Amino acid sequence: MANYQTRIRGGDVYVGGRLVRADVLIDEGRIVGLVDGASTAEAAETIDATGRLVLPGIIDTHAHTREPGYTHKEDFLSASQAGAAGGVTTMIDMPNVEPPTDTVETYLEKREQADRTSIIDFGHWVAGTNLDEIPKMAEAGATGYKIFQVSGAYPHDPRLALNDEAALLKAMRAVEKTGLPLNIHPFNQSLFEELSEEAFAAGKPANWYTFGEVYTTDAIWHTAVNTLINLQRLTDVRLNLVHTHSAGSLRLIRAAKADGQRVTASLDPKYYHLTREDLLRIKGRACPGGFITEDADRMAEIWRSLNDGNIDSIDADHAPHTLEELEQMEDDAWHSAMGSPQYDWQYTITLTDVNDGKLSLRRAVELLAEAPARLLGIFPNKGALLPGSDADLVVVDMSRELTLSDDGLYTKVGWTPYVDWKVKGYVELTMLRGTVIARDREIVGTPGFGQYIAGVPQ
Ligand SMILES: [Zn+2]
Repeated sequence: MANYQTRIRGGDVYVGGRLVRADVLIDEGRIVGLVDGASTAEAAETIDATGRLVLPGIIDTHAHTREPGYTHKEDFLSASQAGAAGGVTTMIDMPNVEPPTDTVETYLEKREQADRTSIIDFGHWVAGTNLDEIPKMAEAGATGYKIFQVSGAYPHDPRLALNDEAALLKAMRAVEKTGLPLNIHPFNQSLFEELSEEAFAAGKPANWYTFGEVYTTDAIWHTAVNTLINLQRLTDVRLNLVHTHSAGSLRLIRAAKADGQRVTASLDPKYYHLTREDLLRIKGRACPGGFITEDADRMAEIWRSLNDGNIDSIDADHAPHTLEELEQMEDDAWHSAMGSPQYDWQYTITLTDVNDGKLSLRRAVELLAEAPARLLGIFPNKGALLPGSDADLVVVDMSRELTLSDDGLYTKVGWTPYVDWKVKGYVELTMLRGTVIARDREIVGTPGFGQYIAGVPQ
């Protein structure tokens, strides 16, 4: 009789920062041991991983599932399917939905919807803008909080934005008391508006190109991060800054960390992958990526920060919009949807960086799995392949090359900003708590299998 649920045979397994040739034994959804190939341990199911890597699944802290309110472009089921195909085993999603999740009631409703359909584990960043609701939502199990400083039109909902320093400080103090993380999208909105006016006055069109150019101006991010780091110093809130692609911001974050401040940084792949060439080829689909990859100073600081840990985590910013919606970027980008779906190829984009020698495998796993699990307070139960960890993992063929296209995607909107990209590194299998949920990009997971990740005060 078999003693274990599953045995993954013959792979190189990522354990404690290095690869170990071992068989993984799994029972009741958890890793129970790593054994030599000669071990006689018997399992009900055997998975052959010869010549493959076995890595922790991605813990992604930046999903826009679009549910409720915008389910014509994504929902918990489709986002979780795209995630499963791309190697994401846990996703934490964002409050800019309709109605926005800034009350206990809307938060619980959203969580219930995810509980019914998500095939991967999930949590939720509630809005950090509603002072009265902040402690109540923590009590109800919120994973943490999100504040946007960028405002204007959807998806940057003014109801979820704070720019005033006093208001930000109050929100930080309220979140600090919960012990949960506070994610902020840093943005100097008034400077952005002024630079936008200057661009229009100079005769530039209000399209995706001008928008992206202004939006990614270093000073807009740098000045905002400067303020946020100063406010954080007045509190001890766990501040996680997202979209940290400005060189100035990264230098401030480095100094703040050296001073012992509880500040972490996340960056999404579109900013340092999509090029000007991609932008001109696929237009609004690449926006607001494509503007900084020609800036040598910024790219050097980004890669330095990804490699030395100044950037703690890579998050997806999985942000689907329909191609019809993006058409508005042609002549009114200031009131248009913007963002791109990322989950379908989330592991592959970073594995390609590893294959290209831009990032070590160890840093890739730290960025995609370990650091986000630490931010959530769930490491090493998740984000690691240690005895006792949840068996959340991927089996990867590092040598498989492919050319990405809009075919075979699980995101409802059916497109990728990486169309025609040549990539190397393929997720063959994704497992969540011991159950295979995707195999060779075929989804075999069951809607509702995903479990909720509650906030862990730290
Ligand atoms: Zn986002």
